[in-house]
Amino acid sequence: MRLLLVEDDVSLATVVERGLQEDGYAVDVAGTMLDALHDLDSNEYDVAVLDLGLPDGDGVQICRWIRERGQHLPVLMLTARDGLSDKVDGLDAGADDYLTKPFDYPELTARLRALLRRPSDVHQPTLEVESIRLDPATRVVRSAGVTVPLTAREFSLLEYLMRHGGLVVSRETLLEHVWDANYDGLSNVVDVHIANLRRKLSAEDVIETIRGVGYRMGAEVVA
Ligand code: CA
Repeated sequence: MRLLLVEDDVSLATVVERGLQEDGYAVDVAGTMLDALHDLDSNEYDVAVLDLGLPDGDGVQICRWIRERGQHLPVLMLTARDGLSDKVDGLDAGADDYLTKPFDYPELTARLRALLRRPSDVHQPTLEVESIRLDPATRVVRSAGVTVPLTAREFSLLEYLMRHGGLVVSRETLLEHVWDANYDGLSNVVDVHIANLRRKLSAEDVIETIRGVGYRMGAEVVA
């Protein structure tokens, strides 16, 4: 899952960025509204965390900009203020949730998980494709009942494929959602991680290669 963190407090941004990266998110950080709009314009995010007070604007303006462009990504607002009018402004602008500073990191991740959960997932938080089960809350992956230890990146890659079960996901899309903007490594990094996943899951066939396009988990969805 790729996340945009908009926060001008560098020390807070660094702590949150590190935590989220350890949790497997691909994280881009913007310290100004201008940078945030540029990032939103050039990348495709799964979720955005917006600080309310920024040097050149505020999170409400960014949220309004996102919604005016018809982007539906979930937005979590961070605010040092807990005044009712700020919350109303943010919700009017299309924010999905709020967190008042100071906050505990586990509360942030719990809210992000809730925002990323599709409505149909509410009563079935565990993702399941064939013999593979992935629990986004506990971050436990099992293959045929056996727990499989994965790196944060491998987990994130598997989660993305499972959330899009039945659909062909291109390498470009995987790079976009699982790796952040600072990534400048080898172009076959996706294939290398897929190979590692297949080996660790002891299930070569569960991730299907769609030649020239990308990968798919689960039976093809026919539109
Ligand atoms: Ca701020």
